[in-house]
Amino acid sequence: MKNWIYIFYYTIFSCFVFLHKTQAQNELLTVFERDSNRSASYEECIDYFQKLDQRFKELNLISIGGSDVGDSLKLVIIDKNGFTNPTLIRKAGRVLLLINNGIHPGEPEGIDASMMLARDVLLKPTLSSILDSVSILIIPIYNVGGSKMRNNFTRVNQNGPEQYGFRGNRNYLDLNRDFIKSDAANTKTFQEMFMHWQPDVYIETHTTNGADYPYNLTLLGAQKNKLNPVIDDLFYGEMIPYLNKAMEKDDDPICPYVNADGSLKHGIYGFMDSPRFSSGFTSLYHCFSMLVETHMLKHYKPRVESTYRFLMHSMQYLFEQNFKLRHTRKKAFELDRQIDLFCLKYKFSKTNTDSIYFSGYDTQMIYYPELQINLHHYNPQKKYKTLIPFYDHFDCSYEVQKPKYYLLPRAYHEVTERLRRNGIELDSFTRDTMVEAWFYKIGELSSASSPYEGHFLHHQVELKAQKMTYPYFKGDYIISTKQKNIRYLMTVLEPGATDSYFMWNFFDGILQRKEYFSDYLFAPVAEKLLANDQNLKLRYLEKLANDPEFKASSSKKLAWIYEQSALVEPYYRIYPVARIE
Ligand SMILES: [Zn+2]
Repeated sequence: MKNWIYIFYYTIFSCFVFLHKTQAQNELLTVFERDSNRSASYEECIDYFQKLDQRFKELNLISIGGSDVGDSLKLVIIDKNGFTNPTLIRKAGRVLLLINNGIHPGEPEGIDASMMLARDVLLKPTLSSILDSVSILIIPIYNVGGSKMRNNFTRVNQNGPEQYGFRGNRNYLDLNRDFIKSDAANTKTFQEMFMHWQPDVYIETHTTNGADYPYNLTLLGAQKNKLNPVIDDLFYGEMIPYLNKAMEKDDDPICPYVNADGSLKHGIYGFMDSPRFSSGFTSLYHCFSMLVETHMLKHYKPRVESTYRFLMHSMQYLFEQNFKLRHTRKKAFELDRQIDLFCLKYKFSKTNTDSIYFSGYDTQMIYYPELQINLHHYNPQKKYKTLIPFYDHFDCSYEVQKPKYYLLPRAYHEVTERLRRNGIELDSFTRDTMVEAWFYKIGELSSASSPYEGHFLHHQVELKAQKMTYPYFKGDYIISTKQKNIRYLMTVLEPGATDSYFMWNFFDGILQRKEYFSDYLFAPVAEKLLANDQNLKLRYLEKLANDPEFKASSSKKLAWIYEQSALVEPYYRIYPVARIE
């Protein structure tokens, strides 16, 4: 009898809990769940997380710093104990997943999916155990300024939602090109947050443009050839195959990000995400980094649902492989300390190819008589599934030996501020010192002819290493390379690296001569120099004989002798960061 009473009360209690949870779920429906072609605005999204913050002790919405419109950038922290401190979370043995939404606010699926995901993890008993070993960080909307420029036309071909934000931020910068130069306030805040939390896995949510195919979602993982081998093994050997399988099981298969040139049957290409991109930047710190790109031609509903599904499966993977993820990252940092040669530039390899099964649509040519152009169109009625080449291999094209120290004048405060923000420790000279060390002399250079993301980015630079003495002053910096974040340090201070601070114009001052001479006063000096230096004279005569332009120009002749002389300014085109080897 006692048993029956227990069952009766238990049933009543369960019904009460169920009704209470259902009521909570109804109260916590998101904008998207009420209308599947609507995406939450910035205000709606933050209000929603505030509501969750008030209701659940496990969720905290905090401000982490400034953004491009002054509003503080927000971070949602979901932790079983309600911890808001990464040290406590790590001590509890949990891994950290960071989800970043709305870096391109016209691509808002992740914004809506993350609102549902946060609520469901806290409300659904089947999901709550995930929090035993995973803590979740969500940037609800990263590009605050862009998200406030709402419209319904700038994503020209996109199939909903009815309103969305704009790609650029308030300074008209694409924030997903800003992770090294970090011009935007959002990026500065992100870097501080990233160093503080050191997440294990990073997922950024996007919507793609371009080709048509049946997949709702494509996946761009940080390019494998640049990863530490232990990260590559786990990421491409286990994690991505796990996610592929899980999505396939849900009847929502995914494929690698479709980067193609012409027919997809001829293959798709991998993408080298250099560190200016978020996945390139975050993977410098051995974070497992991925971008998901939903397909713009699908309705908004399946796009959000696919994103939600992918995020859920990622959480599940983190839950199952907590130890392996943490151990592998630790190992990668240890291995990096032993590496002497770092690859800082890659070139695409067309000879090294994989194959993948790909579902696509046949194309047909359509003629537009008014425009008088022919264009390929995709025909969703004609599906195919076939093996296609996947060109996802990159070879190293520029390798640099790690020095023992770099020396950097403190006058480059924009550089030192960035180094500090990225966890680099700096020591200072205690007095003025002439240092003999290796320096790069900048030779030929090719640069952008029009601005790219606010800079005239250099692409190709000829570097000649030379030993010389150079003055460093009290307060200038000595930077040991025995640092945890050595990948970042080499990436930004080696001028030949794709995304070095040199390439991003932080050292452009050295590219212009500062001192000049008067021709009529320098001519007798030059005359004397030639008369007294037989070797110089021979080279001068040789140049006269072989270079008609030189022969015809008195200024070129004088400039040439000036450059060969001891009078030339000594640090013109000398990259001021010494390498102590
Ligand atoms: Zn995007």
